[in-house]
Amino acid sequence: MVSPDGRHRADLAVSGGQVVAVGDVGAHGRVIDASGLLVLPGMVDTHVHLMDPGPTEREDFPTGTAAAAARGVTTIVEHTHAHPVRRPEDLAEKRSHLVGRSNVDFGLAAHLWPEDIPGMAAMWEEGVTFFKMFTCTTHGVPGLDAASVNAALKTLAGFGGRALVHCEDESLTALAEKTLRESGRVDPVLLTEWRSREAELVAVAAVSVLALTSGAAVTLAHVSTPTAAGIVSTARHIGADLAAEACPQYFALDEDEVVERGSLRKFTPPARIRSEEERGLMWDTLRAGVYSHIATDHAPSTLDQKTQGDFWSAPFGLPGLDTTLPYFLDAALGGRIELEDLVGLYSDAPARRYGLFPEKGALQVGSDADFVLVDPEGRWEVRNEDIVSKAAWSPFTGRRFQGSIVATYLRGRLVAENGRPSDQRTGLFIPGRGVDRRGGRSIRV
Ligand SMILES: [Zn+2]
Repeated sequence: MVSPDGRHRADLAVSGGQVVAVGDVGAHGRVIDASGLLVLPGMVDTHVHLMDPGPTEREDFPTGTAAAAARGVTTIVEHTHAHPVRRPEDLAEKRSHLVGRSNVDFGLAAHLWPEDIPGMAAMWEEGVTFFKMFTCTTHGVPGLDAASVNAALKTLAGFGGRALVHCEDESLTALAEKTLRESGRVDPVLLTEWRSREAELVAVAAVSVLALTSGAAVTLAHVSTPTAAGIVSTARHIGADLAAEACPQYFALDEDEVVERGSLRKFTPPARIRSEEERGLMWDTLRAGVYSHIATDHAPSTLDQKTQGDFWSAPFGLPGLDTTLPYFLDAALGGRIELEDLVGLYSDAPARRYGLFPEKGALQVGSDADFVLVDPEGRWEVRNEDIVSKAAWSPFTGRRFQGSIVATYLRGRLVAENGRPSDQRTGLFIPGRGVDRRGGRSIRV
């Protein structure tokens, strides 16, 4: 069994969907023999877009959560830009739509429009996991300027809520877009000029400052470079409550892949790595503890959807739930990071950050029995035909990984085996911690 504190040989006793004992408990009831395998707590992926309800031709809850289960993710926090949750009735509608549609447990996040700031406390008490904010207008969600971010974070700090902020500066991306369009550019290299490093850095710096002055707990989404992470680190040292997401695409993919792969590398912020030295710096940053947790930013489209039309009209985003744990597991088994740190980054830390711990993110007595069996000697290659997401492709296709995810259990029940989900749809809604303010977090659909 692997936890952030170490690994040890132990029995895990499960009853009623929960862990009831850990240690030398002997054999009672049904026994799963995990000799030679690693037992990890289920991963907690807090940045996922499953488009349901919404543009379900790209993904839906059954397929997206089947991909999660197949590759060791047992809890997700979901939000869909094209069908945002802004008001209590939106959350109620989404929860009722999703009954019987999820293969893993899930929280739901709200999107924040500037005019919705006065309603934030009420939304928090309804049980959203966090508020998603953009600093630039993206995917149809309006960008918040510094004044709106400031107002939102002050409001959030007042009730101890959580925010996830997508940081790219609107004035820089808007001017770049205008200039690029006027010059007639349609080549994929425009992406790195449109969604520039400085646009991300300016917004990361501004949001970090406003997190500091407001006292709000803020997560910066998909921090793409060691420089951006350095700003986060500095702001933390002077007192800001900042978390920072590490996404696999900023470790694995290179900036110039967009030249050959075009819209299959259109996501934002885009891949930044230009050299092996820069890749090494990303891993150094992760090992140094600057990144607080791993998240996928799963935002899939099929190959057809990605490649219709010109580069400007192609949808942003990558599929990721099929490959995020495998990618970091391979890195851990290859010595890039400690396996204990991977469990910390992709299970314990996100669960703690969003108030889901210790039901999620741990295998201690009383935790939900969400666990993953891993064969550390297994080796396999990512193939499009094995991708469970509706995307049916992956930027990792062709890569060989060490570490096979043998089985995934959700609340004691087998939900996937050897990459094949059973699609039982037993996942439950897990409310955010705001429901505590209304007396009780036992609300599960
Ligand atoms: Zn996202």
